[in-house]
Amino acid sequence: MSTPSLLILPGDGIGPEVMAEVRKVIDWFGTARGMQFDVSEGLVGGAAYDAHGAPLSDETMERAQQADAVLLGAVGGPKYDQLDFSVKPERGLLRLRKEMDLFANLRPAQCFDALADFSSLKRDVVSGLDIMIVRELTSGVYFGEPRGIHTEGNERVGINTQRYTEGEIARVARSAFELARKRGNKVCSMEKANVMESGILWRDVVTEVHAAEYPDVELSHMYADAGAMQLCRWPKQFDVIVTDNLFGDLLSDAAAMLTGSLGMLPSASLGAPMANGRPKALYEPVHGSAPDIADQGKANPIACILSFAMAMRYSFDAGDEATRLEKAVETVLADGLRTADLLGEEGRTPVSTSQMGDAIVAAL
Ligand code: ATP
Ligand code: MG
Repeated sequence: MSTPSLLILPGDGIGPEVMAEVRKVIDWFGTARGMQFDVSEGLVGGAAYDAHGAPLSDETMERAQQADAVLLGAVGGPKYDQLDFSVKPERGLLRLRKEMDLFANLRPAQCFDALADFSSLKRDVVSGLDIMIVRELTSGVYFGEPRGIHTEGNERVGINTQRYTEGEIARVARSAFELARKRGNKVCSMEKANVMESGILWRDVVTEVHAAEYPDVELSHMYADAGAMQLCRWPKQFDVIVTDNLFGDLLSDAAAMLTGSLGMLPSASLGAPMANGRPKALYEPVHGSAPDIADQGKANPIACILSFAMAMRYSFDAGDEATRLEKAVETVLADGLRTADLLGEEGRTPVSTSQMGDAIVAAL
């Protein structure tokens, strides 16, 4: 296999700070594990606007299309709030998602034992939790036509349409089954087939794709409301959950809160398989540019570092190395190191962004 390519887009705010820590990790994997990546950097968001008046240049867009994986920091900040909508930093990210056609949004909910008391749930419910929610991202009720607000008789009516084609359901189902094979080999599909036509089709298509292409993966179905309840009651029963755009929005935010800080949460958005069989992919922390703490060495780099771990597992076929990195994060947390966002009332002193990065490299 040729050297896999990784395009790094640090972006704005704390993006460049947390990405600097990822670079240390990448260097470690190069030196100590002989894993070579063809790493290049580009501009996105406000940083790109400052340089050439657009939040993503055509040239960077093209490089993203060619890369085996893209790793993004964060975009936006108060400096750009007054800009015209068409050149806002967020538009850079939206363009990447749209042109790469990233239809599957992956949000893991992973709970490190050292942080289990940070969750709103009981320790034994969340400790060691490792689940993945796959949310369909480019269709469903957020995009379906007809939509709008009009007047019927003497009152206004608001309309949205939940619409899914077979093809849209099948492709996100495949993403979920592929992921499951690299994890616990279990998929639970959630919809509301009891009250929605699109839910009936969703269940049928997921079942068909499973029977034809992934009979080795364990598949179950759940109504999304029951799924929400089970997610809070005993989340460890799940491995991969696949669901539509709206239910995925709700379920992934709920799942995120099982685990604690925004500074800990990675994500990925996947598209169709490329010539090498792996999907187009954009990895990024769930958090934003956090302008309130930018340039102060306070940002927690773990979300971005775990996003790189996801890239190793899902784009570079290096699941063992991803686990190694996750274990290093676990070790550092178990040793008691905390960036400011991970400290509650306790009177401990926080470590800085770069101290956290250095400690993770040392643990590796
Ligand atoms: P955006 O619009 O880009 O999503 P936002 O302000 O809604 O920005 P974040 O930028 O994610 O959301 O910040 C929300 C809060 O969480 C802020 O107070 C921020 O300081 C904190 N935060 C976010 N990410 C981190 C991190 N990696 N480390 C520490 N604190 C963080
Ligand atoms: Mg936000």
